[in-house]
Amino acid sequence: MNEKIVNPYYDRLPGSYLFSTIAKKIKEYQGTHANADIIRLGIGDVTTPIIPAAIEAMHKAVDEMACKNTFRGYGPEQGYDFLREAIIRGEYTPRGVEMDPDDVFVSDGSKCDVANIQELFAADVKIAIPDPVYPVYLDSNVMAGRTGFMQEDGHFSEVTYLASTAENNFQPELPKNPVQLIYLCSPNNPTGTVLSRETLQKFVDYANETGALILFDGAYNCYIQDESLPHSIYEIPGARNCAIEFRSFSKTAGFTGVRCAYTIVPHELGKLRSMWNRRQCTKFNGVNYVVQRAAESIYTPVGWEQTKAVIKGYMDTAAMIRSELTAAGYTVFGGEHAPYIWWKLENGEKSFDFFDRLLGTCEVVGTPGSGFGPCGEGYFRLTAFGDHEQTKVALKRIKEKL
Ligand code: PLP
Repeated sequence: MNEKIVNPYYDRLPGSYLFSTIAKKIKEYQGTHANADIIRLGIGDVTTPIIPAAIEAMHKAVDEMACKNTFRGYGPEQGYDFLREAIIRGEYTPRGVEMDPDDVFVSDGSKCDVANIQELFAADVKIAIPDPVYPVYLDSNVMAGRTGFMQEDGHFSEVTYLASTAENNFQPELPKNPVQLIYLCSPNNPTGTVLSRETLQKFVDYANETGALILFDGAYNCYIQDESLPHSIYEIPGARNCAIEFRSFSKTAGFTGVRCAYTIVPHELGKLRSMWNRRQCTKFNGVNYVVQRAAESIYTPVGWEQTKAVIKGYMDTAAMIRSELTAAGYTVFGGEHAPYIWWKLENGEKSFDFFDRLLGTCEVVGTPGSGFGPCGEGYFRLTAFGDHEQTKVALKRIKEKL
């Protein structure tokens, strides 16, 4: 094959994917420790089964597929109206946000949506991304050739990084260089922290003044416990003119395997909305009917109660990790409005060194912060998605052995 025909930008991606590096390290450890009893607190996947209301809805929808009168073939690429309307009723109306169901685009994942959305933008737009953050925003732009080259300090030359650290209380400053696309993630993966109303207003005002667009990822919005914190960017005045919002059922309803998410592109964004509609109609076949019925069921009174109970379970685990580590004298952030705990390492310890030390002394696995961006160096992510009792054992080991 002629190498010249391939996309050259893939070669600029950081070497190996974070989680495969970690998996390799665990495998090596197991190779030399036959009786290892490893507890995984690095997992970013849910572990609680799908709620009964959604399972029931799926069974019913499957039965409909078996009957000539109720069978469905290709569905609307934007999602069925019943789900688009349920999302508005269940997520936006209760927060005082008016939204047209036509602005909701149902999809099979926020990962695909946050990556695919950049197809709508010119090749030379400048981007700003939080640091640290979910790696897909950066990597998908590297693939598209927008980022320049990786420098020695781990930053890409053409990207503006929005440092989010304990020093600025995880509230990033406005971009120092002119940018046209700004990614924000709240609650943030990996820090578990939430952007305040003031911070969001600052970014919305900046975007409206400069003509920039905000890409707001709210995949963990249902974990926010304080009702006064913003759950959606559209709670901020002016946001409909400058922001697209991504939401997912993955962490809300245990749909990481089932697959369902949605993206809001308000009418106010005019051309961009029609472009996204066109993109989805051309390249996407819609989410299957059975799954959309399952997603709809979450917004029934019983479905919502069950969903809240699952989230509470994860948040109880998060609170336990937070309080146990704090009581042991460690500094941790997050875990109050997100299932992630962001552990600040001591004495300048590197996050991959700490990974090895934690595995070696406690047989506990987490995720090195540096995998989420240069500002993640010196931090470590633990998640509350694991089994509660196992997590308790892990914390005991940390307190006794680390
Ligand atoms: N956005 C953030 C911040 C995430 O952490 C994740 C998954 O871990 C996603 C999006 C992906 O969501 P989905 O499963 O809908 O693709």
